[in-house]
Amino acid sequence: MVMCIQFSRSLAVAALIASAAAIYAQETTKAKPEDTEVWEPVPKVVTPGANCTAPPSDAIVLFDGKNLDQWVSVRDKSPAQWTVADGIMTVNKAQGSIETKRSFKNYQLHIEWRIPENITGTGQARGNSGVFLASTGSGDSGYELQVLDAYENKTYVNGMAGSIYKQAIPLANPARKPGEWQTYDVVWTEPTFNADGSLKTPAYVTVFFNNVLIENHFELKGETLYIGKPFYKPYTAAPIKLQAHGDKSEPISFRNIWARELD
Ligand code: MG
Repeated sequence: MVMCIQFSRSLAVAALIASAAAIYAQETTKAKPEDTEVWEPVPKVVTPGANCTAPPSDAIVLFDGKNLDQWVSVRDKSPAQWTVADGIMTVNKAQGSIETKRSFKNYQLHIEWRIPENITGTGQARGNSGVFLASTGSGDSGYELQVLDAYENKTYVNGMAGSIYKQAIPLANPARKPGEWQTYDVVWTEPTFNADGSLKTPAYVTVFFNNVLIENHFELKGETLYIGKPFYKPYTAAPIKLQAHGDKSEPISFRNIWARELD
């Protein structure tokens, strides 16, 4: 009797499987390739630059080698007065850091930088500058992607070139020698805040350093701090800032800076 029950139970299960397979077969025969095709919205046409570092057609050119029209002094918002020569801008320590006139939310950024060939100093005092991905106030406030000589220059790894200063250690060190041009390609997702100023969503950053991925959708813990643990302060849009670091190093140079605003 027991045998009989077991037998009929397995028959029922087999029948169930068979009917499920039949339904599935029917469904898949009915499905067509076009059922899963999406035709809208059509992505906007962007004409790429002439080479992989040239600005595409929808880029906001922040520095094309000619002038600093897009930049102001962080200290007093007067016109930027870093040195411009031969298509390159070079830090003017007397004026201090500069930032873009324009404020950004989410964006893609391309920027090239060069540590002077005759750089001196060690550690953090060897070619220190920085790209503040959001300049949220005076001085060094904001979110700093570190610029520093990283070619055989030992320092704390969360402060080396490619780090989000004191927060994110770069995934690799593809630095070129001083005197050679280096590239950062950045995707910045700004933090968002609730009406009461509390954090809604954190900032994220992805960075390619000389085309090597070094920050992969890294979630920031707040603004860069030299001393203490990072925390967030509400803002909605902010300029991009280039740091004039107050050390004795020879000044850093930048060129070919452009951004694309992202939704
Ligand atoms: Mg710095």
